[in-house]
Amino acid sequence: MLSLGLEDKTVLVTGGSRGIGAAIVRLLDILGARVAYTYRSEHNDPPQGLALQADVTDPAAMNAVAEKVEHSLSPIYGVVANAGMTRDKVFPKLTTEDWNGVVDTNLNGLYNTLKPIIPKLYERQMGAVVCITSISGERGNVGQTNYAASKAAAIGFTKSLSREAARYGVRANAVAPGFIETDMLKPIPDAIKERILAEIPFRRFGKPEEIAWAVAFLLSPIASSYITGTVLRVNGAHHT
Ligand code: NDP
Repeated sequence: MLSLGLEDKTVLVTGGSRGIGAAIVRLLDILGARVAYTYRSEHNDPPQGLALQADVTDPAAMNAVAEKVEHSLSPIYGVVANAGMTRDKVFPKLTTEDWNGVVDTNLNGLYNTLKPIIPKLYERQMGAVVCITSISGERGNVGQTNYAASKAAAIGFTKSLSREAARYGVRANAVAPGFIETDMLKPIPDAIKERILAEIPFRRFGKPEEIAWAVAFLLSPIASSYITGTVLRVNGAHHT
């Protein structure tokens, strides 16, 4: 039987209660990983796993998450920095609150998530980090100066981390989803959605499970053992 080598590996997924994060949690569970995930608000039908309520913008809460996961499961092997949000507005209408909210969640949240965990991975000389960035971080998007800036920063972060982590046997990669059918697409008006679909050679939006498989591949110590510092685009050929 072929395996991705994730059996009994402890993986933390931020924002795992719905959307892409929930699909990642469900797939990792099927693949035999011990999965912990964070969430902010309660939802119906949460996925299996150790569910911890914690806001990624709160450094103390994320320190506590790292401790709790290792105490309740086992030493963390993988981290999927998935929690993210949008506050889309064209730049003249963007408020400081919109800017700070997005940067705080998508970029500072990444820092807060990984800060307590990376030293442990280096010490144990083992681990894999996957940051969820976005097509917008590479090609930009109207109304997303704040979001695209935070996602482009996540790519720079991942590439730098991969260079310093390599000597400790730790890998860091990013997944850049195109447009994926989750709550995040709900605020986009239908007319704009039609325009986006016309630009996507696959002529459909992606599914959360299609991102989850890319994440599982990049976490795998077998399938992607020589891959680090890369951005895996999962976008139906909707390239930059
Ligand atoms: P959703 O809006 O469906 O889910 C977002 C998840 O992030 C939820 O679990 C939410 O928790 C959590 N979250 C948001 N803010 C915080 C916070 N401050 N602290 C902790 N958790 C938080 O989004 P998607 O599933 O679509 O997006 C997941 C990731 O994929 C994001 O990083 C997003 O930017 C990225 N992405 C999505 C694309 C898409 O088209 N959907 C395209 C490209 C990238 P709660 O439910 O409690 O609010």
